[in-house]
Amino acid sequence: MGLLSIGEPLSWPETKSYAEYIREHGIKQFINLYNLCKTKTSEVLKFGDEIEYMIVKFDHQSKKVRVSNRAIELLKILQEPEENGQDCVSLWRPEFGAYMVEGTPGQPYSMNPTPLEQYLMTANHQQQQQQDSDSGSNSTSELIINNDNDDNINNENNNDGDDDDDKNIQDDAFIIDNNNLKTSSSSPFSFVNVIEANMRLRRKQVQDLLDDNEAVLSISPFPTLGTLDFCEPRSFVHPTFGFSRSLFFPDEAIFTGHPRFCTIANNIRERRGRNVDIYLPIFRDQNTSSPFIENFVDALNIDHNNIDDEQKRKYEEIANERQRIVNKEDHIYMDAMGFGMGCCCLQVTFQASNIDEACCLYDQLAPLCPIMMALSAASPIFRGFLSDIDCRWSVIAQSVDDRTEAEITGHCQENGQSYGRIPKSRYDSIDLYISPQHVHYNDINVVYNERYYEQMVNNHIPSSIAKHIAHLFIRDPLVIFKEKMDVDDTKESDHFENIQSTNWQTMRFKPPPLGQLEIGWRVEFRPMELQLTDTENAALVIFIVLLTRLILSFNLNLLIPMSKVEENMKVAQERDAVKNKRFWFRRNISFPQNIREHLRVRRKPQCWSSIKQLSNCFTSTSSGYDRSKKNIENCCVQLTIDEIINGTHVNDGDDDSSGFPGLIPLLNFYLDSVEIDAETRCKLNLYLRLISSRAKGELPTAAQLIRRFVIGHNDYHNDSRVSSRIAYDLLQQLNQLQTDQITLEQLIKNIDDNFNKKNQ
Ligand code: ADP
Ligand code: MG
Ligand code: MG
Repeated sequence: MGLLSIGEPLSWPETKSYAEYIREHGIKQFINLYNLCKTKTSEVLKFGDEIEYMIVKFDHQSKKVRVSNRAIELLKILQEPEENGQDCVSLWRPEFGAYMVEGTPGQPYSMNPTPLEQYLMTANHQQQQQQDSDSGSNSTSELIINNDNDDNINNENNNDGDDDDDKNIQDDAFIIDNNNLKTSSSSPFSFVNVIEANMRLRRKQVQDLLDDNEAVLSISPFPTLGTLDFCEPRSFVHPTFGFSRSLFFPDEAIFTGHPRFCTIANNIRERRGRNVDIYLPIFRDQNTSSPFIENFVDALNIDHNNIDDEQKRKYEEIANERQRIVNKEDHIYMDAMGFGMGCCCLQVTFQASNIDEACCLYDQLAPLCPIMMALSAASPIFRGFLSDIDCRWSVIAQSVDDRTEAEITGHCQENGQSYGRIPKSRYDSIDLYISPQHVHYNDINVVYNERYYEQMVNNHIPSSIAKHIAHLFIRDPLVIFKEKMDVDDTKESDHFENIQSTNWQTMRFKPPPLGQLEIGWRVEFRPMELQLTDTENAALVIFIVLLTRLILSFNLNLLIPMSKVEENMKVAQERDAVKNKRFWFRRNISFPQNIREHLRVRRKPQCWSSIKQLSNCFTSTSSGYDRSKKNIENCCVQLTIDEIINGTHVNDGDDDSSGFPGLIPLLNFYLDSVEIDAETRCKLNLYLRLISSRAKGELPTAAQLIRRFVIGHNDYHNDSRVSSRIAYDLLQQLNQLQTDQITLEQLIKNIDDNFNKKNQ
């Protein structure tokens, strides 16, 4: 949760009337900040995670669990140190739900470049200069790491007594003198030791503030969100007034400590002209009614004891009318922003060393979005029903879909531009790669504002970036604060951020904010689902951080046509995709020949079979990019998540070029090439093993675990319904897990035992 301007929000009609003004100034601000910051460089890698937590309250007498709408009170205390200007170990922000808080580390984590990366940066820079001056010579300089300073280079854990490796290195020609590197005495990977600890500390900070019977949980959706009596204090819906006008989700469950959230919920509904419609396929079980059609009047979340007859009749009429309009068989139906934005998630932001690197990371991480989503799946229950998908993504996309009927169907005449059909919600996967050298992979129809595009290109913004921004700027602002209308476009970027921060896509390209120029070019990775334990959340963050290092260090090319990423996004959300589905993935990972050769000399003989395997997948081009149409079309194959993460099984000596080495073997290959102290490397191995076993299907996803818990529960009648008692027992178990009363292994065993007992 970044931008939180304070002030009085305009009404929707006023917001709409200023939409063009905000966009025009937003574009000017982007042009200004681009031209001011385009040469900005940042030496140190920085990154930080965001975790959203849910506050729940157990009612042990009636065996119920509810969300506890206490975020305002908790945030007052959690934000105190920051407001007093203290150095904080964590920062706290509100989120959409009145029962949610978002925690980040107090400072982004830092990582100094490894010697290898420094070499590569220098080599890349030199190569670039060489190409610029068109010298024609493409020399493959050699890499050696001078190991004199044992503090800096310590190969002991990838060197089990075989000294030949180091000797080999000394024989090479290009020397990086570690003694002259400006690295700190701590390992560049020391962040590995603090991420999980910081996550635990954040959780503890909230735990310390809770009332009896309250708990702070890292879970994606609250299982019975929007059912009768799901929040504390108890609240009821008002389908004829207020922000959401939902049949199920009361406005009291929206965070009211800042006007942004209610205003966005309201304006999305007003812009669209009616409530959002969220459909999710039901998990079909043996006693699920066929077709599955819910009775909305029964589900209406009203106060039956205190509502007057007239109002009750009116609300029931609305429920019936809605049922007629949105009648979609075999789907769970939801109708408010809270069902999506009220879920918790995990995001990671990286600072790149310059704008080109930020574009490169943005592009290279894009194909990993669906993969990481499937690997982290954690959302099998919505509104008290088991759904047939495992992820929250499509729910959030539909929950903030503000498109008008004309925009959805086409023939849209908006903002003086005719866009035709707008195919996606403003919360969805990205449509464009943004590095100039990657645009050949952009093969899906992208709607963008041509006038802004021209304006940006005419102001020296590269066309691929201009197109991305012009694509974001087809949307209206959703909230405008009166006090923030007039800003100096050369000093502030509020209007740019306004549109940018309400385009919620899988990746976000974040320029330095005007006014905070100490911050560099950043990229946010946004598709992951929140995990049940800090260890799993840390593992995902560390895995993705290491992948960014791998991509940049080895100049890996993971790109596939954008249409294939899009296909993967749909598959990723399906039930058990991690186990059963195949994903498009790049067949040949470009890998500069010179670096490959250098790394070869550092490997021990026993590693050779895997290196040989890896070599099959590396193209030997020095630039790494083959732009021919045929190559782009044929660049990918369909692999399982296990094959993508752990590698395909290629026999030794097998020359099968469709074999893929696996991201974890590649990471190990990279990690073996840099110095890491033994303790850190051990820890890294544990996290990587976790990811590896999740991909192999040995460690279940949270979605698999939760679904199995429900199906194995005595109160489950094989009818797709998750009762309040099941939700209570589930969250009790998850709370025990998250307060270290039971381990994940014990939880898995309990769930398996119950499941097997019931299904004997
Ligand atoms: P959002 O825009 O997603 O709301 P924020 O800007 O509030 O995100 O911060 C998201 C994450 O980015 C946090 O974990 C924070 O530590 C991290 N972060 C902050 N500054 C930087 C930076 N310069 N480089 C990389 N990450 C940063
Ligand atoms: Mg957030
Ligand atoms: Mg974020």
